Amino acid sequence: MSEILLLIATRNAHKTDEICAMLGDRFRWLTLNDFPEAPKVIEDAPTFAGNATKKAVELAKWVAEKHSTFNIQHSTPKFVLADDSGLEVDALNGAPGVHSARFAALDSAGFGNTPDVNNNTKLLRLLKEVPLQKRTARFHCVIALTPVLTENTEVASPVCYADEFEMQTRLFDGVCEGRIIYGPRGQNGFGYDPLFVPVGFEQTFAELGAEVKNKLSHRARALQKLREYPGGIR
Ligand code: IMP
Repeated sequence: MSEILLLIATRNAHKTDEICAMLGDRFRWLTLNDFPEAPKVIEDAPTFAGNATKKAVELAKWVAEKHSTFNIQHSTPKFVLADDSGLEVDALNGAPGVHSARFAALDSAGFGNTPDVNNNTKLLRLLKEVPLQKRTARFHCVIALTPVLTENTEVASPVCYADEFEMQTRLFDGVCEGRIIYGPRGQNGFGYDPLFVPVGFEQTFAELGAEVKNKLSHRARALQKLREYPGGIR
């Protein structure tokens, strides 16, 4: 079976490492670091699915338009894979949710992502008075997979070629339940990992490390569905 080349729509090295470790050997990949000129997609949708779709579709259209100019022309990605993910805390009515990467910036009307340590500090402050049994939370991930449709691709309707990218986008989601502890523990991972203890464990994701996290995380579960996608990805 031939390998399928993906563009993983992230510049986050941690996310890339996790995704690549779980994808399996049917896939090869490039990331946005291989395409410094790729457009920056504004993640302003109210849901993970909306943001993942927006990233995958906009970048797939960009690749389709530019592919003949790539100096890696012979290896145009066949699909764009975009992950949008975050933490939902029950005591905060699901926040930070889609704002997970910029949680601390919301206070100062700031724009752009904020350092993990600032986001974690804010989360701990908001949960200061909340007892352990009410500190339930989950990581949620939605992965969007969009084919790069070039002029040579047969599409369902030539009239709505632009919509075809969206119509052919497949979504895969994954959730990992757990709770938020009272202070950071562990050195591995990224984001809220030092504060999140998955159900069935006593250690945080940052203590458990990549091997365990990649078996049970929200991203692992979404990627498992992608790998098992009925009909397969060709
Ligand atoms: P995205 O890059 O817009 O999807 O933002 C994801 C944000 O959610 C990250 O910056 C983290 O704050 C948080 N997040 C998502 N997945 C994880 C994870 O596996 N561990 C810890 N934090 C995560």
